[in-house]
Amino acid sequence: MNSQKTHILSYTHNELKDLFQQYGLKRYRAIQVLEWVYSKKIFDFSLMSNISKEDIALLTENFTLELPEIEKKLVSQDGTIKYLFRYSDGATVESVVMDYDYGTSICVSSQSGCKMGCVFCASSKVPFSRNLEGYEITAQILKAASDSNKNISRTVVMGIGEPFDNYDNLVNFLKIINMKEGLNLGGRRITVSTCGIVPKIYEFADLGLQVNLSVSLHEVTDKERTAIMPINKKYNIEQVIKACEYYFEKTNRRVSFEYALISGKNDTDEHAMRLCSLLKNVMCYVNVIPVNPIDKKSAHQNSKNLSGFCAILKENGIPVTVRRELGRDIDAACGQLRRQNDN
Ligand code: SAH
Repeated sequence: MNSQKTHILSYTHNELKDLFQQYGLKRYRAIQVLEWVYSKKIFDFSLMSNISKEDIALLTENFTLELPEIEKKLVSQDGTIKYLFRYSDGATVESVVMDYDYGTSICVSSQSGCKMGCVFCASSKVPFSRNLEGYEITAQILKAASDSNKNISRTVVMGIGEPFDNYDNLVNFLKIINMKEGLNLGGRRITVSTCGIVPKIYEFADLGLQVNLSVSLHEVTDKERTAIMPINKKYNIEQVIKACEYYFEKTNRRVSFEYALISGKNDTDEHAMRLCSLLKNVMCYVNVIPVNPIDKKSAHQNSKNLSGFCAILKENGIPVTVRRELGRDIDAACGQLRRQNDN
């Protein structure tokens, strides 16, 4: 995006008041601009009718509200919308808008590309391009909301990228969408998903935001997990689980462990039992995900043991949910965002 100008979406109300003052604008212009942007979805200063001509000129000269372009938009039969957004430097990311009984949720990307290399995830197939700035993540929500005309009430950071590999920008984003003069999304309506970057889980816990944390676990022994998630070499299962216990201690929020069932790999009854023993003293949920194919090779990996696997967890007192699959027909389900046709 335009690097010469300051992006309005980077700032909280208090910060913006100070900043406006430095530019010779009245402090109350901050709340006016925020109302236009977050409530009315107006991104053009010249349309802000309660602002004087002189101040519109000052705003236009020094600030920007630029949003990414919609490069592609796909709508699934189930109503799920997938956007491919392009920023002004050419970097692209995807966001997915999903309707649930409790409201509309958006899945946003935190990086253009991903460095983590998880073998089952389509995002790893595309080279890492760059981190997104906080305002660029926020802009995905605003662009999707204004295009779809939906009232987005929840956000999950589960799109392309590893949010804890872009920590400072992630935190800026969370503070902005959390602020009451902005989207006013409470922490409980926000979920951040990580592959398990342990020091950042501790730092995030200490930050004290009441945000839901999801951790992609997917395996029950270090050997097996390392084979599908290279990050496990650096931070093993025991360290990840310890960090999640700390997250609960600090925030009182149960961590959700993501577990994509891959037929014949991690979906046996023994895996379920080992998972129970790993998590038996942890305040958590397990979110079982029917694995989504990312190429022809993985097209037949769907587990036949889904209900058996879940039953074992339940018998052992571990709360388990099965993720609904939305947007499969448009390659918008988990891990599919970067899937190319026919490879
Ligand atoms: N880097 C973060 C966020 C992106 S992945 C993380 O690892 O959590 C978002 C979720 O989709 C994770 O739980 C991830 O493990 C899961 N996922 C990735 N590929 C998948 C696939 N092919 N099928 C099902 N879930 C997948």
